[in-house]
Amino acid sequence: MFDQTDWVWKDGQIIRWGDATVHASAHALHYGSGVFEGMRCYETEEGPAVFRVGAHLRRFYSSAEVYGIQIPFTEAELQEAVAECISANNYRSCYIRPICYYGSDTLGVHPRGCPVEVVILTWPWAAYLGDDGLKTGVRITVSPWLKFNSQMVPTTAKACGQYLNSLLAVRDAVSRGYDEALLLDSDGYIAEGSGENLFIVRDGRLHTNDEQSSILLGVTRDAVIRLAEDMGLEVEVGRLQLGDLLSCDEAFFTGTAAEVTPIRELDGNVVGGGARGPITARIQEAFFAATSGRDSRYKDWLHYIASRPAEALV
Ligand code: PMP
Repeated sequence: MFDQTDWVWKDGQIIRWGDATVHASAHALHYGSGVFEGMRCYETEEGPAVFRVGAHLRRFYSSAEVYGIQIPFTEAELQEAVAECISANNYRSCYIRPICYYGSDTLGVHPRGCPVEVVILTWPWAAYLGDDGLKTGVRITVSPWLKFNSQMVPTTAKACGQYLNSLLAVRDAVSRGYDEALLLDSDGYIAEGSGENLFIVRDGRLHTNDEQSSILLGVTRDAVIRLAEDMGLEVEVGRLQLGDLLSCDEAFFTGTAAEVTPIRELDGNVVGGGARGPITARIQEAFFAATSGRDSRYKDWLHYIASRPAEALV
């Protein structure tokens, strides 16, 4: 997976992949005390461009803030660091993973005194739920693990330790032959996938849930709401039940890694027509037109990376 990655950005410098190490006593390794982001850089006619870097970095800072982690760089500095990392590795497109975590000082649960370290990793990452998944849809199952609620941990933050809940859910789903898990919230409503938000289509209208259902508020979800509205489709935001998914015309997941992935089956029940539906196809098309810069209405969502030789950076 990381074969094509030579350079990593760490605490203000571009370093070799092999040098980007963390000590076994790091607080984050023991307690998951870090926050991260996931973004994608897409190939466009004007060079590589990061999709909605501002929205992702803002979520990065707010995730850190909830946990009292002070990121020792400004948003502008991190935006520049993302660009440096992409051009050092000479990518036309890639996935981008900024992470900020507590390093080594104490193993008391209170991270007092622990240094805050910031790393940006980049690597080529194909469709998260597979190219076939994008075209024909994925098979999902209701997880026996519930999504935690915001009185337990802040669901709108993207923190390292929080992903143990997703790990349990996806591992269970895959072990039972499914592509992805669907987690319910603690009231029994639909929350989200282990790494994706959910949309359903009924009578030509889109429905999705929000933070009331313990979801991470996805940047892709936000983009899809805007794309749908610009197409003249209505989008209703509110709680969703399993019955809504079982009786819908179409359903799809959204996420940076998963992009817009149709859902074709839930626990042996055909969802919608059991294939990518026509509205899902239009949303996918609009999404990729935006990420590739083909649709100029969404140029504001793209942050173009100027090419620069790696030697100039290291
Ligand atoms: N929910 C969870 C739990 C996720 O991990 C992700 C991926 N970041 C999403 C939703 C989708 O968020 P985004 O569209 O910002 O990638």
